[in-house]
Amino acid sequence: MSIDANQIHFLTKKALKGDLESAKTIINFLMSLDMREAIVVAYLIAYQIIMNIYMNLGEECKKCGGICCKFGSPIELTEFDLSEIIAEGISLSGIMNESNKYLIPRPCPFQDGWRCRIHENKPYACLSYPFAVEDIQKDVIVSWNSSEPPKPFIPQFCVAGQKTWDYIKFLIESFKKEHGKVPTPLELLEFANSSSKS
Ligand code: SF4
Ligand code: SF4
Repeated sequence: MSIDANQIHFLTKKALKGDLESAKTIINFLMSLDMREAIVVAYLIAYQIIMNIYMNLGEECKKCGGICCKFGSPIELTEFDLSEIIAEGISLSGIMNESNKYLIPRPCPFQDGWRCRIHENKPYACLSYPFAVEDIQKDVIVSWNSSEPPKPFIPQFCVAGQKTWDYIKFLIESFKKEHGKVPTPLELLEFANSSSKS
């Protein structure tokens, strides 16, 4: 399958918003590369989709107060993030334009208390936090020993990420009991999906 970087990001964003067909395409593509790093990224994307779609984390993010939206370097928007924001009629006031790059500063102008005012249209980078942010996970990506699904790095303050990882560990152990093997990223995601319906 031939797929360019922009398509990868576009499909990944759709997957992170809960489109399971896009999730399958992107995970199958990563697995087809047959590279250790790509397999770790496939797991991390599966973890992030589980966080975004199958977890109820309002209380945790409220308790944290939205630290991920307050601190850190500016968030770069992809072309499709920007198109989505414009199509929704969201004001670009507060978004910086530097050398043809659109950046959301932090503290983020779209933050309202601990909530995101553009939740339905939040950028790719925000949908990826914390499991699918490659900068955060770079040590995990290079140091994985392939016997078990990778243990992600989760910042101490991110109680929502910690709660999600506890659930993912439970899913992995349940899958192993049922199937006698470690789940692949896609099997983990499908297991999370079927568990959410039972
Ligand atoms: S995702 Fe993590 S860091 Fe961000 S608001 Fe929720 S708990 Fe806080
Ligand atoms: S766009 Fe929303 S999720 Fe992203 S940093 Fe701003 S408030 Fe947070």
